[in-house]
Amino acid sequence: MNNLTKTVFIFGDKQADGNAEMKNLLGGKGANLAEMNLLGIPVPPGFTITTEMCRIYLNEGHDKLISIIKNEVTASIKFIEDRTGTKFSDVDNPCLVSVRSGSRASMPGMMDTILNLGLNENIVKGLIKKTNNARFVWDSYRRFIQMYGKVVMDVRPEEGDFVDPFEEILDEAKIQKGYQTDSEFNAEDLKNIAQSFKKLVKKSTGKDFPSDPWEQLWGAITAVFDSWMNERAIYYREMNNIPQEWGTAVNVQAMVFGNMGQKSATGVSFTRDASTGEKIFNGEFLTNAQGEDVVAGTRTPRQITIEGSRRWASLSGIAEDIRSIDFPSLEEMMPEIYQELLGCAEVLELHFKDMQDIEFTVQEGKLWILQTRNGKRTGAAMVKMAVDMLEENLLDEKTAVLRVDPKRLDELLHPIFDQGEIIQSDIIAQGLPASPGASSGRIVFFAEDAQLWSSEGESVILVRIETSPEDLKGMVAANGILTARGGMTSHAAVVARGMGKCCIAGAERLKIDYKQRIMQTENLTLKEGDWISLDGSTGKIYQGKLKTSEAQLTADFEKLMDLSDQYSRLEVRTNADTPKDVMTARRFGAKGIGLCRTEHMFFDDDKIMSMREMILSENEVGRRKALAKLLPMQRKDFEDIFRLMNGLPVNIRLLDPPLHEFVPHDEKVQKELADEMGISHEIIKQKIESLYEFNPMMGHRGCRLGNTYPEISEMQATAILEAALHIKYEGIESRPEIMIPLTGTVEEMQMQKKIINQTAEKIFELYGDRIEYLVGTMIEVPRAVLIADKIAEHAEFFSFGTNDLTQMTFGYSRDDSGKFLPMYLEKGIVKDDPFQVLDQEGVGQLVTMAVRKGKIGRSNLKIGICGEHGGDPASVEFFHNEGLNYVSCSPYRVPIARLAAAHAAIKEDKKINAAAQYAIKRQESLLI
Ligand code: ADP
Ligand code: MG
Ligand code: MG
Repeated sequence: MNNLTKTVFIFGDKQADGNAEMKNLLGGKGANLAEMNLLGIPVPPGFTITTEMCRIYLNEGHDKLISIIKNEVTASIKFIEDRTGTKFSDVDNPCLVSVRSGSRASMPGMMDTILNLGLNENIVKGLIKKTNNARFVWDSYRRFIQMYGKVVMDVRPEEGDFVDPFEEILDEAKIQKGYQTDSEFNAEDLKNIAQSFKKLVKKSTGKDFPSDPWEQLWGAITAVFDSWMNERAIYYREMNNIPQEWGTAVNVQAMVFGNMGQKSATGVSFTRDASTGEKIFNGEFLTNAQGEDVVAGTRTPRQITIEGSRRWASLSGIAEDIRSIDFPSLEEMMPEIYQELLGCAEVLELHFKDMQDIEFTVQEGKLWILQTRNGKRTGAAMVKMAVDMLEENLLDEKTAVLRVDPKRLDELLHPIFDQGEIIQSDIIAQGLPASPGASSGRIVFFAEDAQLWSSEGESVILVRIETSPEDLKGMVAANGILTARGGMTSHAAVVARGMGKCCIAGAERLKIDYKQRIMQTENLTLKEGDWISLDGSTGKIYQGKLKTSEAQLTADFEKLMDLSDQYSRLEVRTNADTPKDVMTARRFGAKGIGLCRTEHMFFDDDKIMSMREMILSENEVGRRKALAKLLPMQRKDFEDIFRLMNGLPVNIRLLDPPLHEFVPHDEKVQKELADEMGISHEIIKQKIESLYEFNPMMGHRGCRLGNTYPEISEMQATAILEAALHIKYEGIESRPEIMIPLTGTVEEMQMQKKIINQTAEKIFELYGDRIEYLVGTMIEVPRAVLIADKIAEHAEFFSFGTNDLTQMTFGYSRDDSGKFLPMYLEKGIVKDDPFQVLDQEGVGQLVTMAVRKGKIGRSNLKIGICGEHGGDPASVEFFHNEGLNYVSCSPYRVPIARLAAAHAAIKEDKKINAAAQYAIKRQESLLI
């Protein structure tokens, strides 16, 4: 049978049909289970049903699927039976399995898994006889009914109830018995709970819980396939751009039991710290527990290492003598198992050359590894791990650069709490620093509220006892996440780190009351809507809203940025028009200003009056009078910027927006202005009315202003060039580039250029000195693209204004698209918001054409882009491939663009290399 017709892949006893390369077909979990077998890691035997079968099931239905896989599945169960010496559906010596989801991309907790499958009342009795451990058997059975009931039989909370009805039964039983945790249940309790669970299933679904293991198995397999299409999985895929067509694989695997007593345990470990990136082995476990117990946060897990355990204790305010007795680490409790686990972790990290997130179970003193994957991590950890692994020679430079997702750099640049504020504020509680970041918000206790409040513009902190995958949307909407229970591997912690969202977990001293919507500490009660602040790096929770300050950039970050610049071809500039922005951008490594919007400079209090005067003047004389007042102010702005840029290119765009944006629409201000100008209010009002436009975006703006009122361009050119001359006398160089906006015809370009050049000559003569400067244009009107060759004869550079170009290509008004674009996105009419991610299919063609034609007009034409897209990684890759010279983006996105530019160059290199390799091979094969 070849791989195309093979539907099931087995693994066990150091053999496997598949391997790590086969993630597309076997999913990440299945491919790595196979690989771990090949590496000799102890993994319970099992088999993987391919993602191909998921597509068949979803498209062609249940019967078709079963007809295809039935024989192979039956034979593979036999394979498990042979390896384990047990028999599926046998009463005396039963084989129990887990049925696990696992897609190509990791989607932690989004799909379903069922454990302990293969039990019924008779088999329970047989297994008790075999193991002589009734508590364990009933515990396994009740877990099985709970999972199967939920996943396969769809038992849900009743309308309006948030609590899982199975958990409700467990809670009631606990209260009745006066127990603190589930671990206190004895065999008898668990037997009763299993019976109540079955009754719940019957009542809720009208069906009996199935007792035939084969029926259970087929039900579970198809339910796991179905879970690919559950709401949260779909939502997760949308968020992470995972294609629907991929489908999930199903893994069926022999059970190993962490719930057989105190010599058994289950846990999760990481080869490095997922939140800081430090190279320290860490993780959490619970004794006498199974499956998701550690992640679910229902019992507080223990730490795997002594070191981790001590850190945890000091955060939780627990003294060492108490810690070592009440909360010992795995390293202390099961030293041999610990060593073996550490050994496996080292093998796996070296093999996969990345931080591993490893699930394990200890069954009566024997270690089993159940899963390994490249661990989710914060942006900061991503950077640190990449740089560390480079230094450890685990990765080469290119791979290290590719390891960091440009979008995630954002997290490192976010502000942190102001030190001064921290000292003065009240700490209300301490939890585990599960995911770093500083965030403030108003308390909400339910995911639905987090979504609702944040859609109304509120900043919220989602406060939960623990989170579950159902809370995903609320977690996305919240500014930060706080849980009272759970550890560093809890659902909340893992998901938050994956999203780069601030999270504090396991703040045990907080009492959360969902019904009253309050949370309490020993001496304080906070209610829904109150402000709190979380410091995800220290685990400290503060009352109120704390001020923030700039983040500190690490040496690792700088190193990554330097490496990026080594590999990238695109230069990264910034869009900036204030000294503050310019300084931020330089700190982030901008190599110039790609867009300085002069209109922003006019909105200043002292300038706006003269600006209005200029606009409302009735003739050129009046306008010149007002412009003369503006000139020194503009000149000073440019001097400041040139000084800060210290010889780097500064691209200045001449006045662009329609004039009515500057005039006052409020009566009182209009009157003041009239007094100032010595004309009547009536005249001012008329003039303002005359400026009204039906469609200002397509109206009197851009170079249309400079061509109808040449004195504006004249003043601006004067300010720019005089500023350059002035700072030249201070010994500072400058490289001004004067950019004409909204050009659509050659004449528009020519006329503006003439004004600028004539002005320049006049100034140079006056000063007896010259400045090098460029004159170029934005490419943002489709017509400019079509005649780009002719425009380039007059323009020394092009800069794509992709915001306007997108607006005019789609015919979507930037200001009005909010009314329909969200719906278009939802319906899939457009895949991304074209104002954020460049539409390569359409607008991209215009870019390609303008580049080609532009270079015909002028072979050394300098080409850049200054729209929003300059900071979007996918768009940056496109601009790289089009051969642009630079991208320009807002200051905080400069590092993102730098890294994205390096990714683009490295990927291109790889493609070229692959093509060359192929050519060589081809040549060789022809020679033979
Ligand atoms: P997820 O993808 O949500 O992590 P998994 O399929 O990994 O789901 O399973 C959930 C939990 O059950 C994990 O903790 C895993 O280690 C445990 N588990 C899965 N299969 C087995 C098995 N055969 N024996 C013991 N524990 C298992
Ligand atoms: Mg798992
Ligand atoms: Mg524009």
